[in-house]
Amino acid sequence: MELLFATNNKHKIREISDLLDEDFRIMGLSDVNITEDIPEEEDTLAGNALSKARYVYERTGMNVFADDTGLEVDALGGEPGVFSARYAGEGKSFDDNIDKLLLRMEGVTDRRARFRTVIALILDNREHLFEGTVEGEILSERRGTGGFGYDPVFRAEGYELTFAEIPLSEKNTVSHRARAMRKLLEFLASVKERQ
Ligand code: IMP
Repeated sequence: MELLFATNNKHKIREISDLLDEDFRIMGLSDVNITEDIPEEEDTLAGNALSKARYVYERTGMNVFADDTGLEVDALGGEPGVFSARYAGEGKSFDDNIDKLLLRMEGVTDRRARFRTVIALILDNREHLFEGTVEGEILSERRGTGGFGYDPVFRAEGYELTFAEIPLSEKNTVSHRARAMRKLLEFLASVKERQ
């Protein structure tokens, strides 16, 4: 089965290709010559994941899935959420986003937060959603140099180390994205069994 992943992130494509058996072939946007930025204008993760998948489906007619991720901080009413990539403004860096988050969390004692990933799949013209979360807390300063995004200030429940301090292989077993991907994979495996 050929499946298109609506992303240009080669790391994400490799990650999921490694998890699937040889009956599945994962392609990225560059394989189908979609080079423009796909609009992400919805106010929910599911809305954005679905609109990305639909955008690509309408142009290619291929079975496709898309993901969207956000960091939800309880004390900030779920912010930055769907705005995680551009919390400090359009074109700002991961560091700028963390600076803004730490500023807003100054003096806040309830540090609970979670990463949430939603994957939208369009398979044989039907839409499906899969979700993965990892609970944790926001530290008051950065720790570690691995990972990306908010990893240096996020510590998952049951861990002493931040996502930027643990090995990537370990992050990939507990992360929001890994959990959502696993649900997608289980679904695809069940579809394959029925065929
Ligand atoms: P995307 O939907 O995967 O592009 O993620 C949106 C934003 O969420 C990214 O720009 C990061 O700021 C943040 N993010 C997503 N996944 C992670 C992660 O695994 N660790 C830290 N931050 C993440």
